[in-house]
Amino acid sequence: MADHYEVLGVDKTASPDEIKKAYRKLAREFHPDVNPEPSASDRFKSVTHAYDVLSDPRQRQEYDQGGSNAFGGAGAQGFGGFGDIFETFFGGGAPGSGGSGAAPRSRKERGGDALLRVEVDLDEVIFGTKRDLEVNTAILCDTCEGTCCAPGTRAVVCDICHGSGQIQRAVRSLLGNIMTSSPCGTCRGYGTVIPSPCPTCAGQGRVRATRKMTVDIPAGVDTGLRLQLPSQGEVGPAGGPNGDLYLEIKVRHHEVYSRNGDDLMATLEVSMADAVLGSRVRVGALDGELELELKPGTQSADIITIKDRGVSKLRGGGRGDLKIGVQVVTPTKLSGKEQELIRQFAGSHKSKAPHLAEFQQGLFAKLRDRFLHV
Ligand SMILES: [Zn+2]
Ligand SMILES: [Zn+2]
Repeated sequence: MADHYEVLGVDKTASPDEIKKAYRKLAREFHPDVNPEPSASDRFKSVTHAYDVLSDPRQRQEYDQGGSNAFGGAGAQGFGGFGDIFETFFGGGAPGSGGSGAAPRSRKERGGDALLRVEVDLDEVIFGTKRDLEVNTAILCDTCEGTCCAPGTRAVVCDICHGSGQIQRAVRSLLGNIMTSSPCGTCRGYGTVIPSPCPTCAGQGRVRATRKMTVDIPAGVDTGLRLQLPSQGEVGPAGGPNGDLYLEIKVRHHEVYSRNGDDLMATLEVSMADAVLGSRVRVGALDGELELELKPGTQSADIITIKDRGVSKLRGGGRGDLKIGVQVVTPTKLSGKEQELIRQFAGSHKSKAPHLAEFQQGLFAKLRDRFLHV
C-alpha cells in the first residue's frame, strides 16, 4: 500500500490545510464524474482513503505511529481499520472509505410521460389525419445544456462525502463495529455539488417550454385509444432521457354517421311512394357521394350494405362497410284528395288486415339503439 503522504503528494509535516488543498486538487482530477479514465477511479479511491486517514488528527497520529493497521479501540473512527475488519469477516469487498460499492447517483433522470387529449372528426378517422400540437413540456436548458452549472463553472466533488454520495457510519454490534451508509445530505447522494447553478434553469438542466409538433393520427383510431409517441415527453432532470408522450383519442360525435367497429352506419328516411315504387338516390358519405338503389317494395329496417366504405382498419387490411338502414316514413297530413287516392288504392289492392307476427329484434333495431345511446 502506498504511503498516504505520497498518495497526496505532501510532506509528513504537512498542515491540515495543506492536506485538504492537496486532496481537493487530486479529487477534482480523478473523480469518476470528471475523469473517464478507468484507472482514475482507483486513484480517486486511494486519494480519498489517504485523506480520510490524514484529515483526522487521531487517525493520522495512529498512522504515523504504526501504519493504518492500527485498529482503534472503542470509539475509534478509523475507516482503514473498519476496512480491515470487513476483509476479515467477509473475505474482501471491503468498503473503502469513500464508497462501499454504492456509486453516487446520477443527476440525470428519465423525464416524465405526458398525456394529451386529441379530438378528431369521424371523417378524419376513415383515412387518418395530421394534427399540429402544442406541448407544454420541459426541454433541455440551452444555457447549460443539462450540466446544471452556470457557464464557465462546473460541479465539484462534495467535501462531506468526498464524492461517494454516501456517508458511512460505524454502528457498534457484538461483532465489533459495523459500517452502515446513507446518502450524503450535503450533495443529496450525487457526490458532487454545484457551486454556481445555471441561472436560466435554476440548476435543473431543463426549462419549461411550449414545443410545437405535427403528429400523424392513424386511420381507424377510436375514442379511448392511446397512441404512444416514444421520447416525445419531457426531458429528464440534468438532460436525462425524455419520457414518452401519449395521445388519448376522442372521436367527435357526427350528426348522421355513427360507428360500429370498422363499420359506419346511418339511416335513410324514405317516402312511402319511393319505398313502394323503388328509386335511386344520391347521398353524401363521409368520403364523397354515393348512389343508393332502393328496390321496389323496400321495407322499413332493410339494410343496404356498401362494401369497403367504412373506416380503415387500424392494423391494416382494408375498410369496414357502410350500412344504411331504411326507414319508411308514413305521410301524416293528407289533403282530402290524397286520402281519397289512398282509399282507392286500398280498395283495389288486396293486402292483409293487421295481424300479429313474431317480434323482430333485427339489425335495424340495434342500429337505432346505438343512435339513441351515442
Ligand atoms: Zn441551465
Ligand atoms: Zn456529499
